[in-house]
Parts: sequence; C-alpha cells; structure tokens
Amino acid sequence: MKIAILKERRDGETRVAATPESVKKLIAAGHDIQIEKGAGDTASMPDSLYEAVGAKMGTLAATLKGADVVYAVRTPDAETLAKLPKGCVLVGQLEPHGDKAQAKAFADAGIDALAMEFTPRITRAQAMDALSSQSNLAGYRAVIEASQIYHRAFPMMMTAAGTIAAAKAFVMGAGVAGLQAIATARRLGAVVTATDVRPAAKEQVASLGAKFVAVEDEEFKAAETAGGYAKEMSKEYQAKQAELVASHIAKQDVVVTTALIPGRPAPKLITKAMVEAMKPGSVIVDIAAPMGGNCELTRADEIVEHNGVSIAGFSNLPGRLAADASSLYARNLVNLTPLLVDDDGKIAPHWDDEIIVGMTLTRDGKVVHETLK
Ligand code: NAD
Repeated sequence: MKIAILKERRDGETRVAATPESVKKLIAAGHDIQIEKGAGDTASMPDSLYEAVGAKMGTLAATLKGADVVYAVRTPDAETLAKLPKGCVLVGQLEPHGDKAQAKAFADAGIDALAMEFTPRITRAQAMDALSSQSNLAGYRAVIEASQIYHRAFPMMMTAAGTIAAAKAFVMGAGVAGLQAIATARRLGAVVTATDVRPAAKEQVASLGAKFVAVEDEEFKAAETAGGYAKEMSKEYQAKQAELVASHIAKQDVVVTTALIPGRPAPKLITKAMVEAMKPGSVIVDIAAPMGGNCELTRADEIVEHNGVSIAGFSNLPGRLAADASSLYARNLVNLTPLLVDDDGKIAPHWDDEIIVGMTLTRDGKVVHETLK
C-alpha cells in the first residue's frame, strides 16, 4: 500500500512519523513510502537519509497523491485534512478524548481516522502503544529539564570544601512517565519519593529504589480500572491526599508531576499554598501541563516563578527529544501496519480486530467510536 508521511505543521512539533529505519522496514514489507520534503528536519533526519533507503520525497500534494494511509504525529490542520484523499486511513495522536467536533470533521472528509491514544492496553498492543513510548521519554526529559532549572546539584558530593546534600525529588503519578522520572532522578543521585493512587504502583516504585508515599485507604485499593488507568478520586480522598502532599512537598527540592486520568482534566495535586510552602530554588516540572497541569500555577509552555519556586509547563516534552521520540513512535506505527493490510500487503484494515476497533474513530463517513457518537 501507499503510505504518506507529512511534515508536522503544529507549532512546536518537532517529531516525525517515520524514520529512515522505519521506512526501510515498511519498504521491505512491500509498501510504497511517500514523504513530504523536510518532514524529518527538526528530528535530525534530513531528506537524504530517507531517499537513501528508498522513500520518495515530494511536495504535500505529491506525497498525498494516491495515499492509502497517512501516518502523522498529530492531527493535521484543517487545510491539510481537506487535501487527504477521500477514503484514506489517517493514523496519528489525534487527541480524540471527547472531541466530537474533530471526529465529525474526519467523518465529513471521508477519512477513516485511527487514534493512537486509544490503543488498547493489552499485551499484544504494547509494541504499538504510543502513549507509553512517548511518556517514557517525557519522564526522562522532565528530570533533565528540572536539573537545568535547579540551581544545585542532584547527587550528594563530599568535597574538600565541604559536603553538598543530595536533592530530594518527589514524583507524583508513577505510571510510565513517572517510573522513568524516578529512574532518571535516582541515576542523577537524588533521594526519590513517589506517589500514586493505584496500589500496583507501590511495588514498582520500591523496585526502582524510591520510597512510596500515599494515602492507602479502601478507595486506593480499588483505584485502578480494568484498562490499567487511574479512576478520578473522590473529594474525600483528594482532601486526605492534599494533606499528605502539603507536608511532604514542603521538604522537596524537585517535583515532577505526571498524574493523568484519561479524557479528564489533570487532577490538581499542588495548590498555590503548597508552592508557597516550598523552599526558594525548588523546581516543579509539570508533565500534565497539556491537560491543564497538576499544579494550580502551571502555565503551558512557560516557566512560572512564584516565591522563588519555578514551575515548568513544557507541553511537548517528547518533542524535546525529537529524534528518539520519532524513532519510537515510528516503530509503534511499523508494528501497527500489519493490522492495516491483507496477506498481499494491500490496504485492508482488520476492522474486527480489538486493537483496530479500539482505535477507530470514524469509518466510511461515519463516527463509529462509542465515546464520540
Ligand atoms: P497515565 O498517564 O494515565 O497517568 C499517569 C499516572 O498518574 C498513573 O500511574 C495514574 O495512576 C496516576 N494518577 C492519576 N491520578 C492521580 C492522582 N490523583 N494522584 C496521584 N497519581 C495519580 O498512566 P500511564 O502512565 O499511561 O499508565 C498507567 C498504567 O498502565 C501503568 O501502570 C502502566 O504500566 C500500565 N500500562 C499497561 C500497558 C499494557 O499494555 N498492559 C501499556 C502501557 C501502560
């Protein structure tokens, strides 16, 4: 089948949906790869590298001509969407949660849209799970960003001039991003604590050498959904959690927040008052910034300073590691590709496969995803 890769047009988007490595694999599987010129520039992948492995580079129009499938990092803008061939399959991180208007726009344009965020969390789909591949990098990068903003060192250092204390880092939300943040902060020498509302996180946090701090009541024991995500917690739980966080956070130097509930605004875990209780020079990196942030003071794409505490709200942390983020995302797409073709490599999405069922927003001009009808 013909696969088109677009240059991402969204402000600040540095990633690309194919790499020379993924193109090589797709071509070996018999597919024809058309890439918009310059698509990989911001991820350190110039056109020449794609050409060297057999991709055809061209204008947007040439790239889209006859495309059966379009692989994208983010939802193309309306102007680009209007140029997609009718009936083609669009796969990308389409931010589908609750966005009925966007789903209708895909349907009206005759595009069969598949959202990577809706990849079911089953073992067979793990290699296609873009939320995991990108969150992992976001967790790493958040700690690196924190280390840049923080005016002190992370590890304890004993020198002839005296001893520097290790930084105290607190990671809120110990899912994919949080666990990587814990591992990274530990590697840098910080003393790490972490919290989550899912009991399964407790052992994972401990296995990384960090201390688990949480309100472990009856609600905590039942906080994980069948899909592996967290539930939105009750007001009562939130109050108990806030009390615990308030006393703990005042002693921390670096806080990385990652708490998310799929399709909901990020839970507010750090209030203005809690920030005011922190030491000057402390740093909060809020990975949940694109979903409104876990800290009341977070502003997307800004580093806010409040009473000497810096609160960083990078909204595209994976994009700050564009080459690796693109590589992992492109591999997610390579792993999904067999579910879009028949035995002869022709376009034929496996519409009845539970992975494709979970991801499909629109088909044949209709919105088909239950949550978006
Ligand atoms: P996520 O990005 O939706 O949320 C991040 C973390 O925030 C989660 O651990 C969540 O429990 C936590 N959180 C939510 N509300 C909170 C609150 N009020 N206070 C503190 N923490 C809060 O989650 P995720 O990182 O995508 O993954 C969640 C789980 O799913 C992980 O355990 C992961 O290992 C698992 N997973 C399974 C598969 C699979 O295929 N089986 C794939 C990926 C992830």
